[in-house]
Amino acid sequence: MQKIIDRFVKYITVDTQSDPDNPAFPSTEKQWDLAHILVGELKEIGMQDVTIDDNCYIMATLPSNVDFKVPTIGFIAHIDTSPDYTGTNVKPQFHPNYDGKDIVLNKEENIVLSPSYFDDLLLYKGQTLITTDGTTLLGADDKAGITEIVSAMEYLINHPEIKHGKIRICFTPDEEVGKGAHMFDVEKFGAEWAYTMDGSQVGELEYENFNAAGAKVTVNGKIVHPGYAKGKMINSMLIANEFIAALPKNEIPQETEGYEGFFHLHGMEGEVEKTTLEYIIRDHDMELFEGRKALFQKVADDLNEKLGSKLVEVEVKDQYFNMRKQIEPVMHIVDIAEEAMKQLNIKPIIKAIRGGTDGSQLSYKGLPCPNIFAGGHNFHGRYEYVPAESIQLATEVIVKIAKITAERAQ
Ligand SMILES: [Zn+2]
Repeated sequence: MQKIIDRFVKYITVDTQSDPDNPAFPSTEKQWDLAHILVGELKEIGMQDVTIDDNCYIMATLPSNVDFKVPTIGFIAHIDTSPDYTGTNVKPQFHPNYDGKDIVLNKEENIVLSPSYFDDLLLYKGQTLITTDGTTLLGADDKAGITEIVSAMEYLINHPEIKHGKIRICFTPDEEVGKGAHMFDVEKFGAEWAYTMDGSQVGELEYENFNAAGAKVTVNGKIVHPGYAKGKMINSMLIANEFIAALPKNEIPQETEGYEGFFHLHGMEGEVEKTTLEYIIRDHDMELFEGRKALFQKVADDLNEKLGSKLVEVEVKDQYFNMRKQIEPVMHIVDIAEEAMKQLNIKPIIKAIRGGTDGSQLSYKGLPCPNIFAGGHNFHGRYEYVPAESIQLATEVIVKIAKITAERAQ
């Protein structure tokens, strides 16, 4: 356990925050700092074909140790941390044998991690919690995932009695800015399927995410002196207001959960002559998703008809799709992960992601890729924490998946 903690601490104390505003790849130079450390470490523990490409993707192989054919599987985690909160100078705090009470992260600034607000803390009574000092994020997202993959590979190397096929691993940059899958060379990776180690609570196993589109509404008006405006002025903001009101009122993020989709207005800019609305449209179900996009267009068409002029323009662009469609034909890859958890007495928590993952993009690039828990909570902020025991469990899940995949191929 101490070895896993030390490894995790080594990774989180290297700042790897990514930058959504920089079009360069990777988006920040500092991601190379951890990448170079990881390349050295993978070679040191005995991984083969350790490569790092010009875009900061690290790949490595653990060769098969059996003489029959086993599908090549992969494990993936990301190097960067969220742009939402600083990852500079992370100073982890350790709370062994957690007593279920408030944790003072920072006395001076009175920052407290409390189970009265974050009740999932109580799941981990008696365990060793790793928290921040209240001034940075922790980076368990996703350095817990990296720790688990490296530790599992090391374990398999040191325990050749555990039989497994060829395993490929990859650490990607820029996941937090939505580009982790962009430069991922699926062919070079050469796995039949893979798992991202990037979920939260112990047991999480995800293979469904939203279908997603971005939509822009442009309303064109006509400015006339208000004193002489009767019958002449067209106020684009008031028409935009009608557009907003015509969409279903309850189908918005703060009113929906589970499999319920939504329209989310996330930006607007207006004056009399011109108003623009920025929306995102989300739904797990493809038919409902298409229905939402059609409704969006219909609201504009109806308004144009009522106004007798084409003043409202709509532009809808698909962003990503539910990976479920790519996973369903290969459901055994989910079964294997579920079986691995059950063998470790972990209750699988299977739920649909209300967002996207790199795994969804990879699944559509031909690498089916469900997501497994990495163990952290409260990502992207100062309240982020991870129980050391959860990192250990996720490491064991990886080992089990390798073992079960080989057993099933025999
Ligand atoms: Zn992540």
